Amino acid sequence: MSDSDPELPEEETGPTAAELEAAGQNALFGDPAPAAPVSAPPAAPAPPAKPAQATGQAYRVLARKYRPQTFSELIGQEAMVRTLANAIARDRLAHAFLMTGVRGVGKTSTARLIAKALNCVGTDGQGGPTIDPCGVCEPCRAIAEGRHIDVIEMDAASNTGVDDVREIIEQVRYAAVSARYKIYIIDEVHMLSRNAFNALLKTLEEPPPHVKFLFATTEVDKLPVTVLSRTQRFDLRRIPAPMLAEHFARVCGLEGVEADAEALSIIANAAEGSVRDGLSILDQAIAHADLDGEGKVTAARVRDMLGLADKSAQRRLLGYVLSFDTKALLAAVDEQYALGVEPLALMRALMDLVHRVTLAQVSGGEPEAPSEDERAALADFAARLGAAELHRLWQLLLKGHDEVRTGPDPLVSLQMALLRILHAAQMPDPGKLAKRIEELAASGLTAAPAVSGAAPAPTPVAASPNQTPNQTWAALVDEVDASGQLRIAQMMRDRVRVIELGPARLVYQQADNFPDDPAPDIREALFKLTGKRWQIERGTGTAQPSLREAAEAAAAAEDARIRSDPLIRAAFEAFPDAELLDAPLKSAAGSGSPPWN
Ligand SMILES: [Zn+2]
Repeated sequence: MSDSDPELPEEETGPTAAELEAAGQNALFGDPAPAAPVSAPPAAPAPPAKPAQATGQAYRVLARKYRPQTFSELIGQEAMVRTLANAIARDRLAHAFLMTGVRGVGKTSTARLIAKALNCVGTDGQGGPTIDPCGVCEPCRAIAEGRHIDVIEMDAASNTGVDDVREIIEQVRYAAVSARYKIYIIDEVHMLSRNAFNALLKTLEEPPPHVKFLFATTEVDKLPVTVLSRTQRFDLRRIPAPMLAEHFARVCGLEGVEADAEALSIIANAAEGSVRDGLSILDQAIAHADLDGEGKVTAARVRDMLGLADKSAQRRLLGYVLSFDTKALLAAVDEQYALGVEPLALMRALMDLVHRVTLAQVSGGEPEAPSEDERAALADFAARLGAAELHRLWQLLLKGHDEVRTGPDPLVSLQMALLRILHAAQMPDPGKLAKRIEELAASGLTAAPAVSGAAPAPTPVAASPNQTPNQTWAALVDEVDASGQLRIAQMMRDRVRVIELGPARLVYQQADNFPDDPAPDIREALFKLTGKRWQIERGTGTAQPSLREAAEAAAAAEDARIRSDPLIRAAFEAFPDAELLDAPLKSAAGSGSPPWN
């Protein structure tokens, strides 16, 4: 009760009950042990260790040591914390909360924080529920150490039976022993049996006012809707990699460990949104770094540890594919394999690379990458490859990935798949191409909407059916051109939409996207040409498209006409990524240009 009990150990000075429990037995109300294997710290004859570990205290895995003790330490879940703070401030607390999210995002941590928030009495022992639990009062400390008698944690994964739930329900009726609320934290609640749920439901329907349920689950879909409807749900988000990397950098700082930014970024990506998984990997990386004797967590070491291929090697590999360098490609594959990179991992890495290039291309900005080299390489690929090429490359890699995964010899499958991609990146065999197109055309493709690639014709600017003014205008512009005033003739073609054209008079509208006024230049040009002072002014009303717009519309119409030809349609059906080039279009076989050049 008292917050000044001198016998209570300082939280950071030794293994707590919860830690001992988690380290050994993961019993009925135990904390679920971290799932990822965590390297033990370097054993007995440890040379002078890091300051943080030097004081003879039991080594604690990082995920446990840096378990958030306040809501402000809980990273990436700001929206949830705001909602909760509101509920507490307005005294509108649900009887049951449900925390959902992938493993390691902080569901159990959040449940404990909520337990603290509800039961904290403040440093003076007088406080009420608060979003800022003090962390020093007896309830706060007892909850943090997992020894609070009124905060009962249960892992439904190991206690799924109705008896376990009945036990809880028996106790629900009794008031809390020492705290404001009796709190049941049920982890992986979706694992409860149907009967157990039914037993629980009765309590959820009319819970005693002093009881709160905090459920956590990775698989919310498996919960009965009757339970869902009686809980306030918080969806915990995957934590974005950059935020994780920042967090790991902080942890390294506190641990007195030096780490490459790139190393932390790799760990953050591998963690896939989970703080706990990330910290487990970091733990291992630090242990490796200590064993190496240098004590620094480097990108190379982390890559090695995670079995990731060297990013630069992957980029070289993709480069060989795109430059059709068979020899170099096979040599690079062998080299990676010899280094211990699994064929499937390599395939994935290539897919990841293509994905990132695509994102870089779509965003158009500076690609996001942990190193300068990688940024430059991504930007380079994005500039070299067309969108259609990237999509086709992705499809081919995806197919190769499946083959590597299912083939009897992954290395052979990898080699074959990459060679096929390399060859596909070259021109398709012209003979087969023509044959295929003819087959498709013969099979009566007429109903298929194959012209999807046709450029939409630019909408003419309120074109009037009468073309005469534009013909006269075109002739006039040609004369200006012929008189040697090329720049102004071009300006007249590009920018002037004629509204009215009379003797020495032009009323026009300016085509979009041109800020300045072309009138003075045109007036001068026409004066030189005709010897007359032209009245040139902007007007409103129905305008002809500019000569340039008219030409573009005509080209688009012609394009659409060509594409509606059955043979051409068949070609697009066979090669959806093909482009219609300016080349002579009559010979259909030649027009299916490979999307690679
Ligand atoms: Zn407190």
